[in-house]
Amino acid sequence: MKIGVLGAGQLGRMMAISGYPLNHQFGFSGNTNDEPASLLGHMFALEDNAENIESLVAFADVITYESENTDVEIVKEINKDIPVYPGEKSLFTTQHRGREKALFDQLNIPCAPYQMVNSLADLTKAVSDIGLPAILKTATEGYDGKGQFLMRHTDQIKEAFDSMQGVESILEGFVNFKRELSLIAVRGIDNDHKYYPLVENTHHDGILRLTIAPAQTIDSKVQETAEHYMQTLLDEMDHVGVLTIELFETENGLVVNEMAPRVHNSGHWSIEGAHTSQFENHIRAISGMPLGDTSPTHAFSAMINIIGKIGPTDLVLNMANASLHLYDKTERENRKLGHINIIANSQAQLDTSIQQLKDFLPN
Ligand code: AMP
Repeated sequence: MKIGVLGAGQLGRMMAISGYPLNHQFGFSGNTNDEPASLLGHMFALEDNAENIESLVAFADVITYESENTDVEIVKEINKDIPVYPGEKSLFTTQHRGREKALFDQLNIPCAPYQMVNSLADLTKAVSDIGLPAILKTATEGYDGKGQFLMRHTDQIKEAFDSMQGVESILEGFVNFKRELSLIAVRGIDNDHKYYPLVENTHHDGILRLTIAPAQTIDSKVQETAEHYMQTLLDEMDHVGVLTIELFETENGLVVNEMAPRVHNSGHWSIEGAHTSQFENHIRAISGMPLGDTSPTHAFSAMINIIGKIGPTDLVLNMANASLHLYDKTERENRKLGHINIIANSQAQLDTSIQQLKDFLPN
């Protein structure tokens, strides 16, 4: 099949790398020839240009996207001619924190207390109802912790409100979590579901730096609970493709933070660490192929993000149990340039391998 991807970043690049062995072809929307995916398929410039949407649609049998910030209107337009997966409901819900949380409430999925904020008076009331500490976030477009203000004192109300620069925002109660986890699942057109194991994520300055897969010491009941939340969301949105939910593990169980209608950075470990990667499973799902086995290939896996600077990659290439994945991007502060996957048969081997690669991690 011919697969059209809205976007041409590293996620599209890794989708194409996993999809070519299945005999698929790829086309991407993007405006330059130096994006991570631009050498992996046909490039279609899209911006505000209906004709070029038509050429991408004329090329493709099915369309997918890399980002929850994809324009829903474009997706609706394309959907008149060919399928777009995940569908409009998944995209519309996940691109707005308020709509996402309303769906969690409707489905009895625990999340932090929240209130939408459109004025200083709204924020004052939300702080009084929810209490502090709390986090004020933009309702849309936030990523890697951008567009967020951690409020500890009521005298920060004005400063926090001004930092949102007039855009709609949401105040969320601060969750005292033990660990941050995520769950990735895939649902096929025929409603088949498969789940990856819960993984543990460590962030630094709002950016994911390390994923351990599977998350260690997870009770099977916790995995079951997370899968139950996931299944409810997949079915409610009639989702096709990969869906990710980010969760907080707390003293009182799991609390869902947010979800993404796409392959996710915390699933990159699955390229070597699972029998079928999240990228291949996403492509299988949207092209109507049977879903692949999501179980881990090794007892322990880890993923280290390469951020800002490429660093000493020969270290990685000299390790039998580590794999280097670079995205063909130029170095820039805080930019995701690639990742390293580690596979291990014991906790000790995993710890030693991460230690060997400590130059890629923040202090
Ligand atoms: P987000 O963009 O919502 O994923 O938030 C980025 C990071 O901020 C998360 O990975 C958490 O570390 C932290 N965070 C977000 N929301 C909350 C919350 N309600 N309580 C505590 N920490 C949070």
